[in-house]
Amino acid sequence: MLDLSLTSDQEQLVAAVRDFCSREFAPRIGADDRAGRHDPEIFAKLASLGLPGVCFPQRYGGHGLDYLALGLVCEELEYVDTVYRTVLSVHVGLVGMGLYTWGTEDQKQRWLAPMARGEKLACYGLTEPNAGSDVASMQSTARRTGTRYVLNGQKTWVSDADTADFLLVFAKTDPKGGSKGVSAFMLDRSASGKNALRTEPIEGRLGIRAGDVGSIFMSDLEVDEADRIGDEGDGFKIAMSCLDNGRYTVGAGATGTVRACLDASTKYAHERKTFGQEIGRYQLVQQMIARMARDYEISRLLYFKVAWMKNKGLRHTKEVSMCKQYATDAAFNAAHDAVEVHGAYGYSAEYPVERFLRNARAPIIYEGTREVHTILQGEYALGYRQDKPVKKSLPKYEPD
Ligand SMILES: Cc1cc2nc3c(=O)[nH]c(=O)nc-3n(C[C@H](O)[C@H](O)[C@H](O)COP(=O)(O)OP(=O)(O)OC[C@H]3O[C@@H](n4cnc5c(N)ncnc54)[C@H](O)[C@@H]3O)c2cc1C
Repeated sequence: MLDLSLTSDQEQLVAAVRDFCSREFAPRIGADDRAGRHDPEIFAKLASLGLPGVCFPQRYGGHGLDYLALGLVCEELEYVDTVYRTVLSVHVGLVGMGLYTWGTEDQKQRWLAPMARGEKLACYGLTEPNAGSDVASMQSTARRTGTRYVLNGQKTWVSDADTADFLLVFAKTDPKGGSKGVSAFMLDRSASGKNALRTEPIEGRLGIRAGDVGSIFMSDLEVDEADRIGDEGDGFKIAMSCLDNGRYTVGAGATGTVRACLDASTKYAHERKTFGQEIGRYQLVQQMIARMARDYEISRLLYFKVAWMKNKGLRHTKEVSMCKQYATDAAFNAAHDAVEVHGAYGYSAEYPVERFLRNARAPIIYEGTREVHTILQGEYALGYRQDKPVKKSLPKYEPD
């Protein structure tokens, strides 16, 4: 039986996050964004609500809610600003759920549990200066010496690179092995020498200006083999399975931007008068607002479907690609139209819609560009790509 209603736990969570965001984040985000200031307390504030552990079992420091709860939280966070959703997205979606899927029991206790309890912040370093969409062409290396590895290379455009405690990075253990030569390693900043592991922020960004995005530099950085996730050569598969989770949070978050644009635009369309009546009376304005309303419903349904598949333990690479791509395009279109609905005021920082428009651009690029997702979906539709059996998959949802 199809049931899209929320459980009482989910309803309470949404209400708590919405209330918290309106008190703690909404009043300051405009100024933080204008100043390009990253609030170092964001993660601690998210942790005060228990959000880093929302969908992990209690034995790993979590709260045992399902994967839909995570999506609902992402929608609420991004309703205020993309930066808040990004912190949770990377920490829970890209890294935490990756560890939950691929980590050994010891690794889950060492890394996932403190992450879920909100004690440690994690980032995900896949992209390099010369390897974005073409992940397998990465140049970072991890040379094995006995039971240790020596890592060298650079990661860039990494969200929370400069603030994270734990850094999940990917490097070639077999430089000639293509995608099969990649392995995954967890770095602990506190246990790494300052010269061996260095991070720095990337300045001058179009949007998400209150965020932390940076580069990671690894120079003869030694890690133990116990810090490798999965087997040697599993790194590419791990990176892709992490992206199935990250993309879900990006799609759910973008749904929040669509709703924020819809709410701002309907309010303004009632307030603003031209030629003696509210601009909402004009069909051309209604057309823009109608598209926002429709895209909100479609985006939400897409992430609900992915949540359902995650809860059931079903493979969802195709569906999450559609969800991420559709919702991020919808968010950009909604923000573009929201600026139009607001006329010149939409172009000013007096209203949030110009921030929404700048913020909406990056999610179309990261976790697979629009083109990468179009190719993936086209290949599925044409039968050139089929899901093969996977080595590990995200555990289905089981109530604690
Ligand atoms: C704000 C922000 C945050 C980010 N956070 C992270 C993070 O936390 N961790 C991380 O690892 N990365 C992160 N990224 C990086 C992001 O994932 C990459 O930018 C993205 O994967 C694209 O890679 P690229 O920039 O190298 O573009 P390229 O791969 O060089 O692509 C350039 C253009 O060519 C197109 N193109 C490439 N190949 C093809 C093809 N085969 N067919 C058709 N078109 C193609 C692309 O679609 C794009 O339009 C972030 C990026 C941004 C902007």
